[in-house]
Amino acid sequence: MVLGYLLARAGIDVLVLEKHVDFLRDFRGDTVHPSTLQVLYELGILDSFLARPHQQLKRIGAQIGPFQVKIADFTHLPTKCKFVVLMPQWDFLNFLVESAKGYSGFRVMMETEATDLIEEQGRICGLRAKKRNNPVEIRADLVVAADGRHSVMRQKANLKSEILGAPIDVLWMRVSRKAESDPEQSLGRVSTGKFLVMLNRGDYWQCAYVIPKDGFDKIRAKGIESFRKDLAEVAPFLSDRVDELKSWDDIKLLSVAVDRLRDWCRAGFLCIGDSAHAMSPIGGVGINLAIQDAVAAANILAPSLRAGEVSTRLLRKVQQRRLFPTRATQRLQIFAQDRIVYPTLRSGAPIETLPWPIKLLNRFQILRRVPARVIGLGFRPEHVRIQASQ
Ligand SMILES: Cc1cc2nc3c(=O)[nH]c(=O)nc-3n(C[C@H](O)[C@H](O)[C@H](O)COP(=O)(O)OP(=O)(O)OC[C@H]3O[C@@H](n4cnc5c(N)ncnc54)[C@H](O)[C@@H]3O)c2cc1C
Repeated sequence: MVLGYLLARAGIDVLVLEKHVDFLRDFRGDTVHPSTLQVLYELGILDSFLARPHQQLKRIGAQIGPFQVKIADFTHLPTKCKFVVLMPQWDFLNFLVESAKGYSGFRVMMETEATDLIEEQGRICGLRAKKRNNPVEIRADLVVAADGRHSVMRQKANLKSEILGAPIDVLWMRVSRKAESDPEQSLGRVSTGKFLVMLNRGDYWQCAYVIPKDGFDKIRAKGIESFRKDLAEVAPFLSDRVDELKSWDDIKLLSVAVDRLRDWCRAGFLCIGDSAHAMSPIGGVGINLAIQDAVAAANILAPSLRAGEVSTRLLRKVQQRRLFPTRATQRLQIFAQDRIVYPTLRSGAPIETLPWPIKLLNRFQILRRVPARVIGLGFRPEHVRIQASQ
C-alpha cells in the first residue's frame, strides 16, 4: 500500500490488489515505528495520521519474573516523532488508502486475489486474479509481490527462499482491559517458562503468548483451564478475566517463519516485505521493514516507471539496497529467539536474577538509546526522495 501511494504520488498508474474484502485481519501487530512516522512526515501526512486514535510508546519495559525493567528509550532519536505509535493495522491501511485516493493514478481492488503471473518471452508482464470467483487479467510494466509470508506470487515466479528457521509460534487472543486498574503501557511479561506480549487496544488487550514451535497440540491436550492458569500466572491482573477465553476457538495459532529469497526479482517482477523476507514478530519490526522496502523501491524505480518499463538491473538495485538491513535485522531476531526467548520457554526454573545485558540497560538510561535506535529506526533508514508529480 505504501509503495502504491508513493508511485501514484510520483504520477504513475498503480493498481493495488487485496484478496480480502477489508483490512480487518488481526495477525500483523500494531506498531508504527519512528522510521515509518518519519516517512509519513516527509510525505506531509503525519498530522492527519496522528489525529486518528492511537497510543504513543516513548519507552519500552518488561516484567521479567519479579523484576520490572526498562529496555528502550525512544526520546532521544533524531526523528520528528520520538515514540512508537500503536494503531491497529486496519486503521493504518485505511488511512493510507484514503490518503492515496487523492492521486488520480491510484486504484485499489479489494476482494481480488492474485493467483498466477503472466509471462511472455521470459518477462513477467501481468497477473491473473480472481475477484469473487470471476477471473481477471491485469497487464503491467511491473508486478510487485507484497503478499506476505505465505506469498503465492513468489512461488509462481519460481523464486527460491532460504529458510532461516523459527523455534517459536504465537498464540493470539483478546482479553478485556480494565482502564481503572490495569497498567497503561503495552508490555512484555516473562515468568517461569512463559512469555507474553500485551498490546493495549483501549478496551481490550491483544495478547501474544509465545510457545515452542509446533507446541500447540501439547498445550491443547492439557485443557483450556490449564492454559488459563498459565496466562494468569504470567499476568496476574488478568486472573479475573481469563475465563473470557471460552474455548480454543478464541485462541488463534500464528505460525512464525523467518526466511529470505535468494533473488527478490525477475524481469518485470519484484518481491518486497515479508514476501521477500518473512520476519519474526521479535522486536515488532516487520511492518516497518516492509515499508522501508517500499520507500527504497519507489526511490529507485519511479523515474524509470514514469517512462515505461523498468530494467532487471534496477530491480536488483532494490534488493542490493535492502539486503543489508534485512539480513542484519533477521540476524538479531534469530539471536533473540534462539538465545533468549526459546531457552526461557524451555526452562522450568523461576527467574531469580536478570541477564547482565538487561541489568545494564535497566541501570543506565544512556544505554537504552541503543535498542531504541535498532527497533525504532532500524539499519539504513530510507527517506522519500521522489517528488510529487505536478
Ligand atoms: C504473530 C506476529 C506478530 C507480529 N507483530 C508485529 C508487530 O507488532 N510489528 C511489526 O512491525 N511486525 C510484526 N510482525 C511481522 C509483520 O506482521 C510482518 O513482517 C509484516 O506484516 C509484513 O508486511 P507485508 O506487507 O510484507 O505483508 P502482510 O502484512 O502479510 O500483508 C500481505 C497482504 O497481502 C494480502 N494478500 C496475500 N495474498 C494475496 C493474494 N494472493 N492476492 C491479493 N492479496 C493478497 C494479505 O491479505 C495482506 O493484506 C508480526 C508477525 C507475527 C507472525
